[in-house]
Amino acid sequence: MRLKTQKISKSVRRTILLNPGPSSTTESVKLSLIHEDICHREGEFAEITRQVADDLVKIVHGKKGDYVATLFAGSGSICIDVAIGSLVPKDKKVMIVNNGFYNDRALQACQYYGIPVVNCEFDILTLPDLKVVEETLEKNKDDVAVVYMAHQETGTGLCNPIREVGAIAHKYGKIMVSDTTSTLAIVPIDVYKDNLDFCMASSQKGINAFTGCSFLIGKKDYIEKTKDFPRRSYYTNLYRQYSYFKEHGEMNFTPPVQIIYSMQQALKEHFAEGEKAKYQRFMGISARIRQEVAALGLEELLPPEITTGLVIAIKYPNDPNFDFKKVHDYLFERGVTIYPGKIGNLPTFRICNLGCLVEQDIIDAFKCLKSALKECGVKVPVKK
Ligand SMILES: *Cc1c(COP(=O)(O)O)cnc(C)c1O
Repeated sequence: MRLKTQKISKSVRRTILLNPGPSSTTESVKLSLIHEDICHREGEFAEITRQVADDLVKIVHGKKGDYVATLFAGSGSICIDVAIGSLVPKDKKVMIVNNGFYNDRALQACQYYGIPVVNCEFDILTLPDLKVVEETLEKNKDDVAVVYMAHQETGTGLCNPIREVGAIAHKYGKIMVSDTTSTLAIVPIDVYKDNLDFCMASSQKGINAFTGCSFLIGKKDYIEKTKDFPRRSYYTNLYRQYSYFKEHGEMNFTPPVQIIYSMQQALKEHFAEGEKAKYQRFMGISARIRQEVAALGLEELLPPEITTGLVIAIKYPNDPNFDFKKVHDYLFERGVTIYPGKIGNLPTFRICNLGCLVEQDIIDAFKCLKSALKECGVKVPVKK
């Protein structure tokens, strides 16, 4: 028998994604999607999944055997569902340090599962008050088992103090869970120093691979304990997925095969560049975005000091001719994607820096944004 080699090539336009994920990918990551057809139950594929899972633990500096990554086929929110549905013992509560849209998503997951919540709410434009966080936990210490907070509130770009909140959670012997979906693999995270028992992310964000695989990284000992916790979901139960992987070395149900190949390649690139260099590269792009934002007279929603720099929320210009949809469409036609805001009724839009971009992309994108504003009849520099 002779098997043919298929030579596959295709040219695609390189677009500039400034939305909060999926992010722009490298050519090598795009190419990694093309692989010979393989059944996911083959040992060869299981080995790749295992490597990817181990590498994910390394990204957050977890020690092998202490922390473990559990993979799920799904978008980032599947991990919110997994964490909330799997990590809370019977009759215990989740305390959510809540200052935005993504923390609200965890609140909603609690409501779906009928899990009682201590909703420690703060203004979405400011950092949570740690004194209030501690007082609230102290008051509820007999009921709360899990403290939850998003690292970056992707709606505003606010960078939440996970390390400090994690320290408070640990002082009271609670499990600290953070939604690190939009920071992991860009902002350095160390689960020990940052006091995280669980964190999570998704293939299409900081890893810079394709959409479809999300993962929860957490303390193995605690996952073992969850065996006896209420099983609130079948497909998204952490213990079920974890124990299947432990026993068989593969995911319980069909994994997103090609996406895992793209993660393998993206992780290779991540480690080749190094955590520090990668973070500095992203911060360089952020600085350039901020420079361009200021040059157009646009105003940022938050003071830069309390943001990660990876999501820049911008107030609508004070000009009756400004029309976000028109601006968006003008840019989209030219290969640049910007994103609407997600902040109640505050009129904002977002420019995100989560993918493989170079400084020239930002220069090009803002040249295009300037033309789009002029096309709408907005005076540039804009009025605040
Ligand atoms: C992107 C993101 C998610 C996941 O969103 P999906 O649309 O389900 O991929 C969750 N949390 C945060 C903080 C995010 O930025």
